[in-house]
Amino acid sequence: MMRGFFITGTDTGVGKTRVTAALLRAMLDAGKKALAIKAVQTGCLETEEGLCAEDVDVYARFTRDHFPDGYPDACCKKFVPACSPHLAAKLANDVIDLDELVKGIRSKGDGYDVALVEGAGGAAVPLNDTETSLDLMQRLGLPVIIVADNKLGMINHTLMTVEMVRNRGLKVAGVVINNTTRPDEEDEFLREDNVKTITEHGDVPILADIQFLGDQTYPKHRLLNRMVRALESLCTGPVASSDDIDFDRDHLWHPYTSATNPLVTTKVKSAHGTRLVLEDGTELMDGMASWWCAIHGYNHPELNRTAREQIGRMSHVMFGGLTHDPAVELGRSLIGMAPDGLDHCFLADSGSVSVEVAIKMALQYMQTSGQTERTRLFTVRGGYHGDTCGCMSVCDPDGGMHHLFSGLLPKQIFAPRPTCRFDAEYDPASLEEARAVFEQHAHEIAAIIIEPIVQGAGGMWFYHPEYLHGLRELADEHGVLLILDEIATGFGRTGKLFACQWADIVPDIMCVGKALSGGYMTLAATLATDKVARTISADGGVLMHGPTFMGNPLACAVAKTSLDLLNRNEWQEQVSNIEGWLDESLSPCRELADVSDVRVLGAIGVVELTDPSNMPKLQEFFIEQGVWIRPFGKLLYVMPPYIVSRDDVAKLGNAIYHAIQSGHHLEVQ
Ligand SMILES: *Cc1c(COP(=O)(O)O)cnc(C)c1O
Repeated sequence: MMRGFFITGTDTGVGKTRVTAALLRAMLDAGKKALAIKAVQTGCLETEEGLCAEDVDVYARFTRDHFPDGYPDACCKKFVPACSPHLAAKLANDVIDLDELVKGIRSKGDGYDVALVEGAGGAAVPLNDTETSLDLMQRLGLPVIIVADNKLGMINHTLMTVEMVRNRGLKVAGVVINNTTRPDEEDEFLREDNVKTITEHGDVPILADIQFLGDQTYPKHRLLNRMVRALESLCTGPVASSDDIDFDRDHLWHPYTSATNPLVTTKVKSAHGTRLVLEDGTELMDGMASWWCAIHGYNHPELNRTAREQIGRMSHVMFGGLTHDPAVELGRSLIGMAPDGLDHCFLADSGSVSVEVAIKMALQYMQTSGQTERTRLFTVRGGYHGDTCGCMSVCDPDGGMHHLFSGLLPKQIFAPRPTCRFDAEYDPASLEEARAVFEQHAHEIAAIIIEPIVQGAGGMWFYHPEYLHGLRELADEHGVLLILDEIATGFGRTGKLFACQWADIVPDIMCVGKALSGGYMTLAATLATDKVARTISADGGVLMHGPTFMGNPLACAVAKTSLDLLNRNEWQEQVSNIEGWLDESLSPCRELADVSDVRVLGAIGVVELTDPSNMPKLQEFFIEQGVWIRPFGKLLYVMPPYIVSRDDVAKLGNAIYHAIQSGHHLEVQ
């Protein structure tokens, strides 16, 4: 992993290279193994040995004593034209690829105590058509040193740079003030005020105020030594890591985990696109989309921007008696996308809460319509609907947690798990048992609740759309409501925008969550038809629910942007591609001895084993393979972000194949 600093300027020509070279020299003098790396150099000279970067000459000149045999190759990308990197690359018929650039920089800087990565020009300088120097900084994740020239206008430029860098989640190590021109009596007071004002307004340390050097190439030692000391603590790297893991293990509960004997956890420092970045810089290809959520990938520029803009207005305000643009715009968008007829929306703060709200809607509906004996729910085995009490009562009674809470949970009515596979010919007999159970209890049933097409956490099982269609008919025949829990399946995951569209039906009540906010924040919604909403509200009735964080503006704003991204309609092609790639990459698993089934639907791929797997061992193996896959029970499954590439899907498939082939799934004897 690379340690060090990124050095950027408030502008070009502020003396960034000299400051970098001087700092490098001071670090070397202080006994550190240090290297300065020029990320991109424009304005190179063509010489017989190739392109010569003058800036690198400055590094060499300042550090001759330490590198008597010549300065190491310190430039990642070199171009002749003296202009912005994106243009210089274009003129050279080249494109700067951020992944490659990051890799190049890391390969040079790895193993040094301090790598000083010097950027090209200022922070917002473009590197290609879509990315800037800020994106490079963000990917490298190093603390940033900002070099500013002490002149008129520098306060503005410095404070803007500080804010931009912080907005990318990066630490500003400090500002180095450089005086590239000789001060005169008239501007002495201005230069002094510049330094003072930046300290006050930027809430940022001034690492050094380097006086005008003229021809002198090297600033005073004392000054630099102070700077080296100031930077030392920032550069020591992740020493606290094992402490943090210990604290986490001893004090923090994780999902479904023992407090005293928890499973191993891995610390993630940041994430971008389809990659989770661990503390040591390792990048894992994410196969889980953080449990169905991060469909557009991590650190998405547009979702980030929306979140920042909304924070600039307000993060939260109560929804009782107040409303706001984010809620209204999200509501409009969500109702517009949802199956026709679902015209009312309750904004909840988590999937489980949205299911509780759906259940309350159904019960209140029956109460106000005078059917007071209809108080129970009908569902199928193998379902999962969340962890709160109402939700638990309709989760699978065996796989779920019913026995622990038997006194507390209402007793619901269960039919067998839908047996007819999604990809098989429909067997009408598969609904018969459900119908029999239903008809026996029809008079006391308020609603049917089910996950459409895909039973998620209860077994990653894909059942036939005709079965769902049959349940809609059954509900209609008996005047019972149909609640569809689309929390996992909604927003394109199965290849349809909502999974109920496979069966061409519309529920009376629908829950969405997970991918709703693009994986940014906890948010869910319960949608209902006009009939449900009106019936509940008849005779002055009100829906009895109202969480503190209902309609949270920050979450709603991000969710609206996430829906906008979906509405560009790239998801259809993406999901259909992923479906093909998953088929391709998981099929070989069918031949493995302990595999009982391989199934793929949309952007969901499942390999089912004959026996429960050894989760800790698999987890470790997957991390070694550079992928993040979290198995449970007999299931190894993936549902990657929609932006995933074919190569990455292949990587996931390979990892699963090799995990099973090499026996990593087996329980320790
Ligand atoms: C995840 C999930 C829930 C619960 O959502 P939370 O946000 O975890 O409360 C409910 N139903 C289904 C189908 C889910 O996948």
